Amino acid sequence: MNTESQLQQKLNEIDHKSYPAYKSLKGSWKFRNFILTFDHIQGDPFASPSDVSIHIPFDRAGFPEAFCKAYHTRTAMEDLILRTFSRELERISNKAGGSGKSGLITTTRPGQIIAERTAMSLRGGELAARFRMGLPARGRTIDARSLNKMVFDLLPGVVEKTLFYKSYNPNQVKAVYELAKDQQYIREKLGEMGLSAFIADGSVLPRESGVSDRPMKNAVPFFSPESLKVNLTLPHHGQIEGMGIPNGVTLIIGGGFHGKSTLLKSVEQGVYNHIKGDGREFVITENSAMKLRAEDGRAVTDLDISLFIHDLPGGRKTDAFSTKDASGSTSQAAAVIECLEAGAKTMLIDEDTSATNFLVRDEFMQKIVSAEKEPITPFVTRVRQIYERLGVSTVLVAGSSGSFFHVADTIIQMDEYRPVDVKEKVLPLLNNYAAPECMNDALSELSHGRRFWAGGVKRDKNDRLKVRVNGKDGFSVDRNQVDLRLVEQICDTEQVA
Ligand code: ADP
Ligand code: MG
Repeated sequence: MNTESQLQQKLNEIDHKSYPAYKSLKGSWKFRNFILTFDHIQGDPFASPSDVSIHIPFDRAGFPEAFCKAYHTRTAMEDLILRTFSRELERISNKAGGSGKSGLITTTRPGQIIAERTAMSLRGGELAARFRMGLPARGRTIDARSLNKMVFDLLPGVVEKTLFYKSYNPNQVKAVYELAKDQQYIREKLGEMGLSAFIADGSVLPRESGVSDRPMKNAVPFFSPESLKVNLTLPHHGQIEGMGIPNGVTLIIGGGFHGKSTLLKSVEQGVYNHIKGDGREFVITENSAMKLRAEDGRAVTDLDISLFIHDLPGGRKTDAFSTKDASGSTSQAAAVIECLEAGAKTMLIDEDTSATNFLVRDEFMQKIVSAEKEPITPFVTRVRQIYERLGVSTVLVAGSSGSFFHVADTIIQMDEYRPVDVKEKVLPLLNNYAAPECMNDALSELSHGRRFWAGGVKRDKNDRLKVRVNGKDGFSVDRNQVDLRLVEQICDTEQVA
C-alpha cells in the first residue's frame, strides 16, 4: 500500500494541473494511525464531493469487544462514534476555500434515532468511517496545497479525537452500551408479554415543534393507567414501569388536541431505539409495526385489494389492482394489504391521515347508498378478523366514530395528555348502539405473493445504474421516481440509500 509520504509527493505532482488529475488519488494511503481511502473521485469541483473513508483495525481503535458483539449494542457504538465524528468533522469543513465544493467535508449527522448507517461501521475487523470531501480547486485547477492541509493537518486531529476509544469518557461509552441492552431487553420481552408496545412512565412524547425531533420542554410526562401497567426489571436501569399496549385491537380516543396523535407517533418511532435524553428512550414497539395511511395520488401496482374494495365503477376488478392515481380509500386499502404482505404484526393508523370512508360507514349512509353501489368494505368490519385470523394487531386513533368501540380489546382515552383506560366505562353502553357488521370470511384468498419492481432498469454506458437519493423524500432509479414522503417511519437518508 502507498504511504502518506507518497501521497504528499503525489499532491505535489498534481498541484495546478487540471481537475481530472485528482483521479490519480484513487485508492488507499497508509497513515501512521489509519488508512485513508479515496473511494470515488468527483469529476469537477462543482460535482458531488468525493467519497472518502478512513479505516482503522478494530483492535487499534480500541473499543471494548464486548460492546460490539451483539447487533444492537454494536449499532449503538457505531451511532455514538458517528455522532462524535460528524460533530468534529463539521468544524474543519470549508476551511480551505476555493471554487465549487472545495473544502467541504460532510458525513451523516444522526438525529434522535440510533440506527445502523454505512457512514460508520465496526464490522469486518475494522472501524470504517465514510464521508464526503470536496477536493479543492481554484477555478478548474487543482489546489493540492489546500488538500494537503485538509488531509495532513486537519483530518488526523479529528480522527485522533473521535475514532479511538481512548479519546472517550469510558463512562459515557458504557452508558450507551447499557441503554442499548436495556432497550433490547424490553424489545425481547414484548412478545413474551403479548404486547405490541411499551411506553415507560415518565416518558416525554411530544416534540419541540413540527420540524424538530427534540423533546418538548415542560411537557406533561406520560404515566400509565393502573390497569395497563407493566413492570419490568431491566438489566442495567433496574425496575421500570409503564403502559403496555396489548396485542389485539387498541383504540385511542379523546378530544382534539389531547395528545392522541403524539402517542401514536411515539409508538411508530418506537421500532427504533432513541438516544439518552430523547424522552422516548423507553418507548419500545415491536419491530415489525408499520404506520399506514391514506395517500391519494399514489401508484398501486398489481395488488389484491379485494378484501376492502370490490366492483369499482365500470366493473373494474380489484384482485390485481393497478392505478397511477389511487383515491384516498383505495390507497389506504393498498397500504393495509402491503402491511400484511410485508409481514407486519402491528398496524398503526391515525384518523388524521386516513380516508374516513375507508375506516367506517354509518347506518344512515348504508340506508341511502345501497351495498351494491358502495365498493368499500370498511376497515372496522375487518379489523377483528385480521387480528383473530392473521394475528395482526391494530392500534388506531379514532376520536370521531363510536363504531370501533364494538371491536376494540383496549380503549385508551387521552385526557389532557394523560392516558385513561375507559374500557369499563364503554362496555355497558355498547348495547345502546348498533354494532358494525363484522366480516367473517376465511381470508384464505389473501395472496402473499411477493411483488417486485419490473420497471426494466436501464444502465448507462459504463454499466452503472443511475440511482439518485433525494434525502428522506425518495429516490429514483433511472427515470423512475419513488416518493417516500408519506412513509412516515423512515428516519434517515441512509435508509433510503
Ligand atoms: P390530538 O391528536 O389528540 O388532536 P396531538 O397529539 O396532535 O393531539 O397533540 C396536540 C398538541 O399537544 C401538540 O402540539 C402536541 O405537541 C401537544 N402535546 C402532546 N402531548 C403533550 C404533552 N404530553 N405535554 C405537552 N404538550 C403535548
Ligand atoms: Mg391527532
